[in-house]
Amino acid sequence: MSPKRLEDMYDAVIVGAGAAGLSAALGLLRSPEIMDLKEQGVEPKILVVSKLQPLRSHTGSAEGGIAASLGNIETDDWHWHYYDTIKGGDWLVDQDAAKLLAEYAPETVINLERQGVAFSRTEDGHISQRRFGGHTRDFGGSPVKRAAYAADRIGHQILHTLWQQCVAQGVAFAEEWYVTDLVLDENGNRVAGIVALDTHSGKTQAVHARNVLIATGGAGRLFHTTSNSWDLTGDGMALVLDARLQLEDIEFVQFHPTGLAHTGILLSEAARAEGGILRNADGEPFMERYAPEHKDLAARDVVSRSIMAEIDAGRGVPDPKDPNGPKDCVWLDMTGITPERMAEALPQVVETIEQYANLDPVKDWVPIKPTAHYTMGGVPITTDGEVYRWGDEHRTLVDGLFAAGECSCVSVHGANRLGGNSLLDACLFGTRAGRTLAARIANNPVDSPMADESADESLAKATDQAAARRSDELNDLLNGSAPAAATDTDSGITNPYQLMARLGSVMDRALAVRCSADTIAAALSTIAEELEPAAKALHAHDSTAVFNQEITAIWEVRHLIELAKVMLKASGARQESRGSLKRLDFPERDDEHFLAHSMIATDGAVVLQPVVITDYPPKKREY
Ligand SMILES: Cc1cc2nc3c(=O)[nH]c(=O)nc-3n(C[C@H](O)[C@H](O)[C@H](O)COP(=O)(O)OP(=O)(O)OC[C@H]3O[C@@H](n4cnc5c(N)ncnc54)[C@H](O)[C@@H]3O)c2cc1C
Repeated sequence: MSPKRLEDMYDAVIVGAGAAGLSAALGLLRSPEIMDLKEQGVEPKILVVSKLQPLRSHTGSAEGGIAASLGNIETDDWHWHYYDTIKGGDWLVDQDAAKLLAEYAPETVINLERQGVAFSRTEDGHISQRRFGGHTRDFGGSPVKRAAYAADRIGHQILHTLWQQCVAQGVAFAEEWYVTDLVLDENGNRVAGIVALDTHSGKTQAVHARNVLIATGGAGRLFHTTSNSWDLTGDGMALVLDARLQLEDIEFVQFHPTGLAHTGILLSEAARAEGGILRNADGEPFMERYAPEHKDLAARDVVSRSIMAEIDAGRGVPDPKDPNGPKDCVWLDMTGITPERMAEALPQVVETIEQYANLDPVKDWVPIKPTAHYTMGGVPITTDGEVYRWGDEHRTLVDGLFAAGECSCVSVHGANRLGGNSLLDACLFGTRAGRTLAARIANNPVDSPMADESADESLAKATDQAAARRSDELNDLLNGSAPAAATDTDSGITNPYQLMARLGSVMDRALAVRCSADTIAAALSTIAEELEPAAKALHAHDSTAVFNQEITAIWEVRHLIELAKVMLKASGARQESRGSLKRLDFPERDDEHFLAHSMIATDGAVVLQPVVITDYPPKKREY
């Protein structure tokens, strides 16, 4: 679906139609300010742009649950959730944001239910909840059932529900439009709009907007072994870098412990929550040694590192499909779960194992290994979704620019996210950003007779110029005359898909689960010498602009390369081990020097921003 015609100016353009983008659209439209406007006959001009049809957004793949202290099964308290989130993030969490997350989690889940999410139910009709890694009672005590679930398909439920609500509200979508540019005014202080390729027509479009919200999801495709869908190429983060803004804590990437061997496809944490156990080559349930209290349901970084330690110690197993291959997996043993419970609570996990591994989890152990899953860092935002720059010891807002969801960093996840907290982050902070937008729009709607059109005109010009440049580049790519197309690189890489695969292996080797100055330096030099020249030389093999997916893949892989560089540099600058970042050359956490958020732009220089600590001072982290 494409808009029949573009407005001359939008009140807000939302880029991304996953849980975060759709929550923002609904938060905006349902806010009292916008309802008042509508009553006065003023319609806010909103557009949601998505490179995918919205229902294909990765949110739909979320399996295990959404965290909230509902206390439906056992007594729970949001203060415990608050504490667990901070501890899970290895104290790199902004506590003002985490407090909001935990306090408003129950309201967020109940609102989802009222909008139509069909949660699994307890016998007496309450929303059902299961255990998830790192969620405890009594400030780090025994595990608690905190993840509200819908079998193992919570994301599908949430995405469909939010999308249907948006359709009911008459939200305008530009589907399968790929955003190529975020345009700011010449000083970089104010949003002017976006440029997008309408893949249906093959035309670049300038979209003028007074406010832009980026909700483009994560960047798991930086790695070869990943649970993320093909679209998660970090576009929004790269657009922000391109606009000379910063990313926060981008060195923190979560590797989920249980990716199915070789494919990396996720086997939800729900598998362990329902009783699955990790075993090494000797059949030993090894997590008892690494996390005596929480065992297989310790936080994800802890479990992934333990798996890698077993593999490094020679206790890994090969994928049964490749018995002579590397012993780089361990077993997930689900045979203790009854077939009935498996069918009821884990249908997706069972289907994935059957279809992709040809195994039966009722009787077979399943080979797994850690898989790149979630980017904790991203576009820095306030708790109201406003994007800012950090410098001279303070935050400066970028006027009209917002972000939400996995591409953003409000810093509730710190150095490691707890399971179930990201859907919550996307829905809660997406809604909050939508409400902030609403208040801005109500002050000065595009549709109002008082509108200051002269300011709009100069901003529109900046967007038109960016669109013209992009259109020229598109023509060059289609006609095989990209600037460096004539230069033959030695890499043998001739298309973006090969380049993405190569980058994935380089990043796996450099940063997966653990890293060191040497692995980082090696990756940076391969990127500079081999991958960047190859990226510049790419051009399309077909000159048709309509639905030419190679064009978007070229832009995606270029985005990934920009992001890989800053991720490697930020990882290099953090000379400590914290949460998901395990530096083999700096094995300890170093609060004296690094209890701070890293802020990095494309120049690669890292500045540090203090962590907001209000209630819980840092402690040693043990599970
Ligand atoms: C397999 C899997 C299972 C998960 N399970 C859970 C779970 O059980 N619980 C939990 O809390 N979290 C889970 N997560 C994490 C969670 O699902 C995500 O963090 C969350 O859904 C992200 O939502 P989002 O709206 O930020 O992004 P997404 O849902 O990824 O949406 C991104 C949107 O941006 C659009 N977009 C991207 N780039 C562009 C561009 N250049 N131009 C235009 N549009 C663009 C896409 O079209 C898409 O609509 C899981 C993740 C995975 C991968």
